[in-house]
Order: sequence, then C-alpha cells, then structure tokens
Amino acid sequence: MTPSTDRNQTLFDRARELIPGGVNSPVRAFRAVGGTPRFVQRAQGASFWDANDKRYIDYIGSWGPMILGHGHPAVVEAVQRAVLEGFSYGAPTEREVELAQAIIDLVPSIEMVRLVSSGTEAAMSAMRLARGATGRSKLIKFEGCYHGHADALLVKAGSGLATFGNPTSAGVPPEVVQHTIVLEYNNIQQLEEAFARHGADLACLMIEPIAGNMNFVRASVPFMKRCRELCTQHGALLVFDEVMTGFRVALGGAQSVYAGLIPGFRPDLTVMGKVIGGGMPLAAFGGPRAIMEQLAPLGPVYQAGTLSGNPVATACGLATLQQIAKPGFFDGLGAKTRQLVDGLKSAAAAEGVPFSADCQGGMFGFFLLAELPQNYSQVMKSDSARFNVLFHGLLDRGIYIAPALYEAGFVSSAHTDEDIAQTVAAAREIFKGLEARG
Ligand SMILES: *Cc1c(COP(=O)(O)O)cnc(C)c1O
Repeated sequence: MTPSTDRNQTLFDRARELIPGGVNSPVRAFRAVGGTPRFVQRAQGASFWDANDKRYIDYIGSWGPMILGHGHPAVVEAVQRAVLEGFSYGAPTEREVELAQAIIDLVPSIEMVRLVSSGTEAAMSAMRLARGATGRSKLIKFEGCYHGHADALLVKAGSGLATFGNPTSAGVPPEVVQHTIVLEYNNIQQLEEAFARHGADLACLMIEPIAGNMNFVRASVPFMKRCRELCTQHGALLVFDEVMTGFRVALGGAQSVYAGLIPGFRPDLTVMGKVIGGGMPLAAFGGPRAIMEQLAPLGPVYQAGTLSGNPVATACGLATLQQIAKPGFFDGLGAKTRQLVDGLKSAAAAEGVPFSADCQGGMFGFFLLAELPQNYSQVMKSDSARFNVLFHGLLDRGIYIAPALYEAGFVSSAHTDEDIAQTVAAAREIFKGLEARG
C-alpha cells in the first residue's frame, strides 16, 4: 500500500511525533520485527481489524487478558451496567468483596487479596510486603522472567554466577538493585548456591512458574520443588508471579498445575493481573492471612491506590471469572490450544523446519529450535531473522502473533477450528519458504 492509503502508516507517523516511539508500551512498536505497527480500530471474538479495515486472527488477546475473546456478551453487559452506576468512587464497593471472594475460592493458597490496577503495581507491592513481613531485603529473581517495571525488578544477571544483578534500564540506580540476585531459570545448582550464601537475608524468591516473558518456558518439577524447599528452610517467601498464567493456564493458575505434580505444593504469595481484569486495568496480590494483614491499614507495610478496585474494572473481571469458572471451560480451551500447537508442529515437520512448541491451558509458545529451551540464554539462540519471516508472513495472511520471538501466545475460547486450521495452513506455506531459504 502507498503511504497515503495505508492508515496504519499515517497513524504511526503521527503517533511518533506525539508519543515516544509512537506507542504507550514498547513491544507494540514492532522494533524487533520491523515494519509498521497495526493500529486496531475494533475487535470482536477472536479477531481484530486494523486501521485499513483488514481483519486479523488475534493470538495476543491484549497480551493475555482476552481469554473469552473480544466483546463477550456477558462481559459487555456487566461493564455497561457498571458504567451507568458510576466510574469510580474512592470508597469501597460490594463488587470488590465479590471479586476477592471469587479469587480466594479459585486459588487455595490465597486467604486474603488486595486489588490494584496493574501487574507492575501488584508485583512491586508483593515485593514490598515480602520484605516488610520478613524484615529482610534481598530477593531472588530469574533471568528472562518479567515482573513489571518496578526499579528493583528491572535487573539482568551480573557477570559471575549468583552475583547481584545490573539494572536493565537507565534511570535505575545500582544501589536500588543491590539486593536483587538474578539466577538462571531451571538451574538448581545456582539456586542452592544462592541460598547457601544469602539464605538468612532473603525476603523472597519471585518467579514466573511458567515463564511467558521469554516465550514459553516451564519451571521443571525438580527445580520448582527445590525452590519451595529452600524458601521454607530459610524463611523466605515463595512469590508466584501469575500475572500471565493466573486464570489462563488453568482455573487455579500455574500453582494448581504444580500442586498436581508436587503433593501439597503452594506458593506463599501470588501476583495476578491480565485475565482477572478481563481487559480492564485490574491486578491483585494475595496470600495467607497472617502475611496479608501486614498491609496498611492493619499493618506497617504501606500500599494504596486511588483507582484500586475500580467498579467498572471489577465488573469486567468478575464477569470474566464467572465465564471461565464454568465446568469444562479449560478442557475446551486447552484442547483448542493443543490443536494449534500440534498443527504447527506437524506443519513444520512436513517442511523439515526445526521447531518445538509447548502449551498449557490457553497459553502457548513455539520456537524455531529443535528442542524446547529451558532458560533465557537457550531461548535467545532462536534465529530472529527466521522468526521475522514467519511473523511477517503470518501478518500478511491476517494472523497476528506477538511481534517478538521472546513472547508467549494466547488462544481464547472464541477461536474457532477454522481460525486454527487457517493459521496452521498459513504457517505451513511460510515454513516451505523458510526451508527453501536454508
Ligand atoms: C504482564 C506482566 C507483568 C506486568 O503487568 P502490567 O499490567 O503490564 O504492569 C508482570 N508479570 C508478568 C509475569 C507479566 O506477564
């Protein structure tokens, strides 16, 4: 399309004059894959339409929240009703109590919950709570896991093993990350060394149990078991960041998956977001009563928010949770996601393209690698040039996946067999070309 008729390009040119990079969150800018970001004008079900009115099958779903697809009638109705009753009060509402109850009923490790407005805020607050509750400062995180953009969590691994990390962003003073220890995901030896050295000073270990910010990488069962044992032994809190996986990989989140594999398993604190807001700004963190009661106004750990528990957002979240809690919802969603992943695997195999993929519930990841990676450095061995060919090939064919190879993908209950068949057929065509390129 010429620039004058490509409204995505026109909007992007305008946006870049007004908004840094033309976007309000960096990965939307297509920097990793090149090309022009698609400006979305509307969405329905498993599809959205860009500014040129071209339709795409959407495998991002707002990066996870849209588990029912776009515009689910029951959710739309709940939001419309809520809007008529007012946008925000700065005073408590019944729906906050109902949403808290719904979360607590679905996640056995959570006895009390606090609602906030973003995953970043939830993770930052959980970290403060862990530090306040334990009276300790240090924390462990893993390379490739993302916990939002709070200063102390924007850290990459240092040069040596189990050293303190370096800030990944300008504007984060080294002193602010001096208590953050960054380890390799799924590396039991590094974990044991870090606890041996710092165990008595560790407030918490924060982890994405199924990492969705380095594409899709599961914590191995022995690794997760060791995380739990070492935290318990040293009095550190095990904090599950389930902003992506919560109510997405299973109704009870990734922790229910690990509880099925490790008897009696549960994290201490859980951070949630994305699906619990159903597409509205809503997130939460929760855990045992004794820890949660350390929060203001009961305890000494301060945390607050003008728009926390917003009445429109809680209506959206509650209506979404009610739909996904229906019997069989996750069986259906999981089967659909599996169908996509298996289809992509066979398409790649048929064209001789090295390919691996994994999924859980409505979340999936794939790699142009023969073996599933176990940590960040293995993920980064993916060939980005080949990924970009796949990305743009799919985009041209009306299929929208994440514009970077280190992001997970999402299937909603609105995706049809036809959507999936179309996606697999498109991928196969592109795989054919990939092979020819060598
Ligand atoms: C998206 C995400 C966050 C940050 O949530 P925001 O709502 O974008 O602030 C934190 N942790 C994980 C695991 C996420 O996927």
